[in-house]
Amino acid sequence: MRNKVIAGNWKMNYSIEESVKLISELKQGLTETDAKVIICPPFTSLETANALLKGSKIELGAQNMHNETSGAFTGDISASMLKSVGCKYVILGHSERRAIFGESNEFINKKVHKALSENLVPILCVGESLEEREKNITKDVVKNQLVVGLDSVSAEQAEGIIIAYEPVWAIGTGKTASPAQAQEVHEFIRSLISEKYGQETAEKVIIQYGGSVKPDNASELLSQKDIDGALVGGACLKADSFLGIIKAAKN
Ligand code: PEP
Repeated sequence: MRNKVIAGNWKMNYSIEESVKLISELKQGLTETDAKVIICPPFTSLETANALLKGSKIELGAQNMHNETSGAFTGDISASMLKSVGCKYVILGHSERRAIFGESNEFINKKVHKALSENLVPILCVGESLEEREKNITKDVVKNQLVVGLDSVSAEQAEGIIIAYEPVWAIGTGKTASPAQAQEVHEFIRSLISEKYGQETAEKVIIQYGGSVKPDNASELLSQKDIDGALVGGACLKADSFLGIIKAAKN
């Protein structure tokens, strides 16, 4: 059985002061849960978050990193830097990185390898745009993102990766994929992993859904057979709504 994994992507939001407030509220409000809970604040709040989360069930992730170890990459951050401030997870290939910063599948694959080599768990995001869905090429797009994104990743490494299926048209738009639409793509992703690595590995891989997940739609999405968690944007910025989604995550 796969325990649910709920991760919050804070994006470019919150000062240190605001981060302290949200983390305190989350710690206070978090009740007994089997779900794994991860928050991904901006880089500037990671060190503070790490200190505040000591002894709590909430784990820490970052929103991006570079694949190189160090050097002339102005504005970027390395895997070891993230580890030094307590990160265990890193979101890679988010659609905003792909669309706004032109990140390719090949570049994202390099980052996946770097994260794995530094014992960071990649949360590898995949998903189609509205235009791609309308052209009926959702599965081709997702397959290509996965095949290239996981190129040269071993079965043993793949077991530890989290995949987030995030239809771009559902991110920050209030439009959620229906549970059936999401389940169809999740099942497809699991079948691709099974083809590449075998059934046993495929059964272990966590596949999160992301795209306007809210407390009132979370239960239905999370009850689908192949939906193992959620990557949450907007609704993770308020303690009440993020805690509501965590509550909905039952095995
Ligand atoms: C995201 O950006 O990963 C996301 C899922 O955002 P939202 O929940 O706001 O759609």
